[in-house]
Amino acid sequence: MTTTTATHCPYCALQCAMNLTDDAGSVTVAGREFPTNRGGLCKKGWTSAELLSSPERILEPMLRQPDGSFAGATWDEALDLIAARLADGRAEHGADSVGVFGGGGLTNEKAYQLGKFARLALGTSRIDYNGRFCMSSAAAAGNRAFGLDRGLPFPVEDLDAASTILILGSNVAQTMPPFIGHLEGARSAGGLIVVDPRRTATARLTENGAGSHVQPTPGTDLVLLLGLINVVINEKLVDLDYIDRRTIGFDELRRSVGQWWPERVQAETGVPVRQLRDLARRLAAGGGTYILTGRGVEQHVDGTDTATAAINLSLILGLVGTSHSGYGTLTGQGNGQGGREHGQKCDQLPGYRKITDPAARAHVAGVWGVHPDSIPGAGIPAVELLASMGEPGGIRTLLVHGANVVVSAPNAERVRAGLAALDFLVVCDFFFSETAALADIVLPVTQWAEEDGTMTSLEGRVIRRRTAVTAPAGVRSELWIFHELARRLHAPSTFGTDPAEVFDELCRASAGGPADYSGLSYGLLDTGEAAYWPYPAGSTGTPRLFQDRFQHADGRARIHPVRARGADAPAQQGGILTLITGRLLEHYQSGAQTRRVPELAQARPEARLQLHPATAAQLGVVDGGWVDVTNARGVVRCRAEVTVDIRHDTVFLPFHFPGEQSANRLTADRTDPVSGMPEFKRTTVRVRALAGEERGAHV
Ligand code: SF4
Repeated sequence: MTTTTATHCPYCALQCAMNLTDDAGSVTVAGREFPTNRGGLCKKGWTSAELLSSPERILEPMLRQPDGSFAGATWDEALDLIAARLADGRAEHGADSVGVFGGGGLTNEKAYQLGKFARLALGTSRIDYNGRFCMSSAAAAGNRAFGLDRGLPFPVEDLDAASTILILGSNVAQTMPPFIGHLEGARSAGGLIVVDPRRTATARLTENGAGSHVQPTPGTDLVLLLGLINVVINEKLVDLDYIDRRTIGFDELRRSVGQWWPERVQAETGVPVRQLRDLARRLAAGGGTYILTGRGVEQHVDGTDTATAAINLSLILGLVGTSHSGYGTLTGQGNGQGGREHGQKCDQLPGYRKITDPAARAHVAGVWGVHPDSIPGAGIPAVELLASMGEPGGIRTLLVHGANVVVSAPNAERVRAGLAALDFLVVCDFFFSETAALADIVLPVTQWAEEDGTMTSLEGRVIRRRTAVTAPAGVRSELWIFHELARRLHAPSTFGTDPAEVFDELCRASAGGPADYSGLSYGLLDTGEAAYWPYPAGSTGTPRLFQDRFQHADGRARIHPVRARGADAPAQQGGILTLITGRLLEHYQSGAQTRRVPELAQARPEARLQLHPATAAQLGVVDGGWVDVTNARGVVRCRAEVTVDIRHDTVFLPFHFPGEQSANRLTADRTDPVSGMPEFKRTTVRVRALAGEERGAHV
């Protein structure tokens, strides 16, 4: 029998719509009409069904043996052992010795249940997730300025009518290709402006009169934005009426940016004064202007301040919450939005509530049927949580769901050492990811097409993921795993296994919170309703936020002045280069999935270090030749890709690859003090060309 099921892509937050057709076990993908992708898919989406029948799939629980190998076990054996070790660990070292690490790819139902499981079944505050590496700075800035964080506070299609779109630090042409269809209006008006140290595929969309590419020195985005604000204020391009009616803090901002006159900004960023002034004037010209930020400007130790500066610029231009204009941030992971709303963040309860808020605790405790005091307090963010592994008073047992921290976390070798120092590591995955390979127990879980659930896209729209194929007999949904472990641990409350029931409970828990889903149900979502949160019971949802008021009590946005840190030593001094890391079209996140899709792996089988021809010549590096990229934290050994698309003082590595090609061997685990975001986008390294005989040396 042939069945066709309407669902969405398993990968990025654009959540392109697709039809999956199962013809006697042969599954094919077709793009489906939907506002974000208009029937289009990228390579990752087209090939996504291949992993359902991958020969590398884990099909039964795997237990590490005394000799280090893995052997299959029954589910009862595995779950009994896990429950016993969790109970022993808690009894011996306290509840906070058990850590939980979640993922931005989990469905809303799983993210919700994981947070509840950690707090009630394990009694631990030590839960966080890999969205900390992705969206945390933009989220912190949104909460700071608007009192609410929803990546795009407007539907993606609103961008179609824009005449000017400024994209800061996002390579959408490679990370979410169907999105670029929404840039066409701005391109045809000559108004697509891309800020990126590299001439990426997105930056190339500005060529031939379609806009402009601004190529600042890495790590100077905040100065660039302060310079733009300076020009906008000094050239009287601000929207004073909007500022008076809708914001607080403009006078302080005006005083704070006085020191960033254009010539000084040029000296720091390398962006010419004329380009800076032209850009400010273009943004203020009207006709529909949007400012969008991405990880390129957010993954820094001042990422929250940089996103805040982009918001400040948007506010003084009167762009936010007005028709045909706006500010937004481009979420990366598939459920990066929903994953940060329902409780897997260390400081959060469902509905985007603060775990430190007594009223929020009382509400959620009421839904869970427990006393508010039984819910632990705030935990610690992801980088800190991982750094505590093996440390006195730190994590001794870790459960990992939907994350591959050995590849995706900064300072990866330190993370690897921390995982090795644990008493007990459990990983839920489809494959032996690099993190699963280090586990004591690996639990095989269902993939996206084998289960129901909901995801929340980059525009805050809740969508249905549907069961399209039957899961292999030996795998289980995480919801079932949480249920079984909670039962063995005699946890209070209930842990449902039916996604629709869990969603209903999530909706009740979110009622009255910032991310209110209480008017939603699977029944409503199945009608095709465009369900943008907040969607309180009795409402029809909120496609466009901030039309009348912001979420602060007085309804006004906060213009929060921010300061740039002092300029660091220029790159290339003494042979030092600035490394930035990022994504390739063919791969997703740590590559644990896409590296197993033959077509994608063949197209991009390895990491290559991008560097400028002048830099390559200086270092004796040839295109395709082997190099060592080093700093105090580690060494990456890979081939070079010599390209004019990058600045001479900058090199680039994709972060999808493991082992000796893992870019995160080099990145530091210092973080933004507000958001906990690591600085992935600015690492100092040296590059050395390898002689042929050195290539074989062990790294
Ligand atoms: Fe669409 Fe993103 Fe999937 Fe590509 S990876 S098909 S852009 S959802």
